[in-house]
This record gives sequence, structure tokens and C-alpha cells, in this order.
Amino acid sequence: MVLNALFRWAFRRSPWVGLLQVGGCNGCTIEVVDALTPRFDIERFGAVYKSTPRHVDILLVTGCVTVGSVNFLKRIYDQIPDPKVIVAVGTCAVSGGIFTNRVESASSYAVLGGIDRVIPVDIYVAGCPPKPEAIIDALLEAAKLLAEKRQ
Ligand code: SF4
Repeated sequence: MVLNALFRWAFRRSPWVGLLQVGGCNGCTIEVVDALTPRFDIERFGAVYKSTPRHVDILLVTGCVTVGSVNFLKRIYDQIPDPKVIVAVGTCAVSGGIFTNRVESASSYAVLGGIDRVIPVDIYVAGCPPKPEAIIDALLEAAKLLAEKRQ
């Protein structure tokens, strides 16, 4: 009950949430979809999923940045109107994860690392993959940050 009230307070302006995958194994994306769809149902708190960056307030990004996705990621970031909040979801989005292992032979030539190598990130969610509860928690923080940025 208290948690519901907290979510409703944070989400009272109904932030619109987008999802972008730039690399990785797809595991984090599936967890985000789980958080957005009826089992965990983020919409019950007022957040709404949007597929167009121009409508998005909070962008969830999954996967490590590959060489091929750099321009795509920058373009999507620029299309989101200010103020915006960017959330890196999962170890790959945070640091490049297993695809940028410090051991030279284990890293990929096609992977740059975490998404903050290309765009500014406001919130980091660790995990490989993080659970939907952690993603919802990050969305709550993102909604609070968005409210602060709007003031
Ligand atoms: S953090 Fe783990 S689950 Fe998520 S994309 Fe990377 S390897 Fe896959």
C-alpha cells in the first residue's frame, strides 16, 4: 500500500518509457519487456510504454555498445526531447559486460563498452540480467529524477 502510494507519487505525471537494445544477448531486453507487460505491469503505476523516441521521457537501454550501433544510439538520444532520463539496464549497458572482458583474447573487436561511452547515463542497473523488480525500482528513481529536471 505504501509502495503503491510512493509509485503513484513518483509517476503522477505519467512518464512515457522507451526501450532500446544496442547489443548484448537479448536477456536484459526480455526482463524489461517482463517489467512492462501485465505480469509486473508498470502501467498500473501510470508509466506508459512508447515506441517512438520523440514521445519518450525515460529511455531504458540494454546491451553493450557495438561499433555498428554508435550512430544509431546517438540519433535516438538526440530525438528524445529534454528533459529526459537515460537508464542503462544490465551489466552490458553499464560496462560492456562479458563482451568487453579485460582479458584481451576474451573481448570483441566490435564492442566499445557501456553506453556511457556514447551518451550520458543517469541511472545504472546492475545484473546479468537484472530482475524486473530492479528495473521497476530504477524506473521509480528515474521518475523522481525526471520530476526534478522538469522543475
Ligand atoms: S547483461 Fe547479461 S543478460 Fe544482459 S545483455 Fe548482457 S549478457 Fe545478456
